[in-house]
Amino acid sequence: MRDPTSFLAAEYQDLVASATDWKLHTLRGPSTPWCDVDGRKVLMFCSNNYLGLSNHPKLIEAAAAAARSHGVGSGSVRPIAGTMDLHMELEHRLARFKRAEASLVYQSGFATNAGLIPQLVGEGDLVISDELNHGSIIDGVRLSRAERAVYRHADPADLERVLNEAESHQPAYRRLLIITDGVFSMDGDIAPLDRIAALGHDHGAMVYVDDAHGEGVLGPEGRGIVAHFGLGRDRVHVEMGTFSKAFGVVGGHISGSRDLVNFAFNKSRTWLLSGSHPPPVAAACLAAIDVLEKETEHVRRLWDLTRRFKKALGDLGFNTGKSQTPITPVIVGDSHRAKQLSDRLLELGLFALPIVYPMVAKDKARIRTIMNAALTDADVDFAVASFEKAGRELHVI
Ligand SMILES: *Cc1c(COP(=O)(O)O)cnc(C)c1O
Repeated sequence: MRDPTSFLAAEYQDLVASATDWKLHTLRGPSTPWCDVDGRKVLMFCSNNYLGLSNHPKLIEAAAAAARSHGVGSGSVRPIAGTMDLHMELEHRLARFKRAEASLVYQSGFATNAGLIPQLVGEGDLVISDELNHGSIIDGVRLSRAERAVYRHADPADLERVLNEAESHQPAYRRLLIITDGVFSMDGDIAPLDRIAALGHDHGAMVYVDDAHGEGVLGPEGRGIVAHFGLGRDRVHVEMGTFSKAFGVVGGHISGSRDLVNFAFNKSRTWLLSGSHPPPVAAACLAAIDVLEKETEHVRRLWDLTRRFKKALGDLGFNTGKSQTPITPVIVGDSHRAKQLSDRLLELGLFALPIVYPMVAKDKARIRTIMNAALTDADVDFAVASFEKAGRELHVI
């Protein structure tokens, strides 16, 4: 008999042969600026831990205290026996932080998009999506029975074209949902959410923003992209985000109207059918919000270091694309060269991974760097010097 699993090894070997398989790096110890990766002491330059909160003493203490007071597991899904006071308090505090009527916490950002999008739209509806949206949005849309239209990346004029075409569709669509990343993770550019929200309003469309890379980064106190643009909740209906990036923990969430939250928690299957956060996670997320509100220096520091780094790389002649955020891509073009540059940087003590096709276009391979507020000025200078040395050796500059 033929081995029914023979495709497993065959497909894996194809990935290895084309060097598109993931080779995992192991952190021995915490994700701090200087950390141990595969037994080597390196400067972390590619984590999403923008503010260093994953090792903030207040978060660690909150998690440890919650483990002692509430245990390490919730024991159930939220709708049955898995809602603890910590979960309710977290949603209450998050809504206040977001200046929204209500918030809802999911197990992860991925579970949020996969669970909520297919409830917001279905048969007879149209989802209008930026061409570079995150994979969790793409999967969420696939799980719905809605039709999908794509507009050119961050291009309001093209969005308007799609909306105009949608208007004359027969039979008329029941609902329209515009969905976009807030900050695009490969390029670090910001969605023109003000223009998108205005177009949505003009065409009667719901507007959904995934702000995974904007929270803790954009807006006053890092409150995110909706605060950054000063938009009303009547213009952006779903502000989605994650606790796994700048907040330093894990978990997805939405903020908006009370109607949105009531609808979402009664309908999202990922929320209803998957265990709720362990108490230490909920408590650490609560502490993260507290730190963002009280210690505003972290966000300021993140931006100061970001400006310092971008300017230095630009002065050296590197192509850092069109980033407007602490995600700074260093674009080298060819995939092979991006990998060589990353390997050389690692030898020099800087940990930043290459991003290659199919994650970005074939000729847009890059090293993606992400700034961290916990770095010193000297750390950033070390990163610049490493890029300069490796960049010259490999004729990138
Ligand atoms: C990271 C990310 C997610 C997934 O969030 P998790 O909480 O890590 O599951 C969703 N959307 C975008 C844009 C992201 O960058």
